[in-house]
Amino acid sequence: MKIAVLAGDGIGPEIMAEALKVLDVLRRDGLKIETESALVGGAAYDEYGHPLPAATLQLAQQSDAVLFGSVGGPKYDALPREHRPEKAILGLRKECDFFANLRPANVFPELADASTLKPEIIAGLDIMIIRELTGDIYFGEPRGITGHRGVNGELGNRVGINTMHYTEAQIRRIIHVGFKTARQRNKRLCSIDKMNVLEAMQLWRDIAIEIAPEYPDVELTHMLVDNAAMQLIRNPKQFDVMVAGNMFGDILSDEASMLTGSIGMLPSASLDAAGKGLYEPIHGSAPDIAGKGIANPLAQILSAAMMMRYTFNLPDVAARIETAVRKALASGLRTGDIAKANEAKASTQQMGDAVVSFL
Ligand code: NAD
Repeated sequence: MKIAVLAGDGIGPEIMAEALKVLDVLRRDGLKIETESALVGGAAYDEYGHPLPAATLQLAQQSDAVLFGSVGGPKYDALPREHRPEKAILGLRKECDFFANLRPANVFPELADASTLKPEIIAGLDIMIIRELTGDIYFGEPRGITGHRGVNGELGNRVGINTMHYTEAQIRRIIHVGFKTARQRNKRLCSIDKMNVLEAMQLWRDIAIEIAPEYPDVELTHMLVDNAAMQLIRNPKQFDVMVAGNMFGDILSDEASMLTGSIGMLPSASLDAAGKGLYEPIHGSAPDIAGKGIANPLAQILSAAMMMRYTFNLPDVAARIETAVRKALASGLRTGDIAKANEAKASTQQMGDAVVSFL
């Protein structure tokens, strides 16, 4: 298992150090894990003048998986768009054709009271949102702003244009990921669209229906995105796997992640057609707490667990890591982001060490 380790900026290196300790345990247990680190994001810009240097991209391309921390920070906010640290993620996704974004939202029973929703609505929540990353309104042509701004108090005639654009091939491959993921879980797939008003989404639904017979063991349902947004709040446990296009998936996955109430707990994966993937926490570089040793490392550690499940096909190893995380939480340990006001706060390292000891 050749893993590219790209820790990035802010809290990235701090939380990555804890995930690497977890990989060390697995290595001691006999797994053949090879890691190689490289700079990415602002750290790479400082050193090489580019957020995704050629050597970093090459390492990612030559590895089986990328374990990614987080990038960005106020220091880089004034840079031109092509040099911003966040460009590194977009570049990796594009160059490696990571088209499927998997975002689990699950609630550890110990943290059920961290959500803004009632504990009984979210306790035991375990859903997976799959977002398509390469098509849709973010890339469709034509796009742009045309026309003229009004002068001397006259009304202008500017028009803002973006186009929802999906090819059959793009829809097919993400729907297949949806079915395959559902197969590994509770065998229910809910396809999200807006076919009542959008032709691109009619095609989405048609293709989902066409593919369904290939997965007779998975139950396929459809839901309009506006209803899905509502149902996620009303009764999120009704879902198992949801699959959506780029824009709807963007919004729904953020909504779902916040059901859990703890940004420092959530991993994600971006996969290519062969199962190679980039694994990263959903949160950013948290500049407000960087360097203090108080960030929650669990999203990074759980990203490593996802990597074991989805790229290396080792669900038992993934489950072992997840169980160790659960035990660390059950032991009462809480970093600041998940602690209640009166609770003692663990450091990044204490949390990582606890996971390692339970592992
Ligand atoms: P953020 O996710 O970095 O932080 C939001 C809030 O959550 C902060 O208060 C932070 O302290 C807290 N937080 C985040 N992760 C935490 C953790 N592991 N433990 C404890 N608390 C945690 O979002 P932001 O502040 O909007 O963005 C900061 C920078 O990160 C920006 O430059 C942004 O562009 C970048 N960013 C990067 C990624 C990525 O690398 N994939 C994603 C989102 C944002």
